[in-house]
Amino acid sequence: MRKIIIAGNWKMYMTQAQSLEFLQVFKSEIEERVGTREIVLCAPFTALGLLSKTLHGGIIRLGAQNIHWESEGPYTGEISGPMLKEIGVNYVIVGHSERRQYFGESDQTANMRLRAAQKYGLTPILCVGESKAQRDAGDAEEVIINQLKSDLPGVNQQDLVIAYEPIWAIGTGETCAATEANRVIKLIRSQLYNPDVTIQYGGSVKPDNIDEIMQQNEIDGALVGGASLDPLTFARIVNYLA
Ligand code: PEP
Repeated sequence: MRKIIIAGNWKMYMTQAQSLEFLQVFKSEIEERVGTREIVLCAPFTALGLLSKTLHGGIIRLGAQNIHWESEGPYTGEISGPMLKEIGVNYVIVGHSERRQYFGESDQTANMRLRAAQKYGLTPILCVGESKAQRDAGDAEEVIINQLKSDLPGVNQQDLVIAYEPIWAIGTGETCAATEANRVIKLIRSQLYNPDVTIQYGGSVKPDNIDEIMQQNEIDGALVGGASLDPLTFARIVNYLA
């Protein structure tokens, strides 16, 4: 059975105070129809401890946005699995295109971070996807298959989420057509040994496109950036109409 997971990626937004304000509104807007859908907030490190205490025992789960492959060491600015686990984090985003683009993240480091997440009891959300130039050149499928080949060796697919995030659709307002996202996600699934891996779509998900996205039979959820920062907007997304 594939799990449905709707995750918000807050990126470098939200102080602790703003996170609490968000939660107050957001929690009251979650409808019963959410049922077994899992809701995850991937918050900045500074807000994770407070959110964990506030969310304790509730239906919302917590995600981080990075993890180092070592458990500790001289790695200024990095964060480790045991540190995240200790404060109640469940998920961690790995290989996001913003990390690949601005912080030198490679498939090799993504693979090390994925394996570290699993080693320390966190479920990684691996982001893959092609750039506009790669899509225009007709290379999208090959790029994604190569990312999976490089990112997944040694990774346990029983404890993994993948997000298909076409780079050209991230933060641009340009959404990939739901049927096209469905096609690519089917391709991603065909590369896995575990067909039950949750595969999300990410890239300008909004209240006005989430229903159609979630009607696609291969799509098991969404990774939502900008639209997860407003509690009413994100609530409408998690309350999507199936
Ligand atoms: C993201 O950051 O993973 C993302 C999909 O962003 P946005 O929803 O803003 O396009």
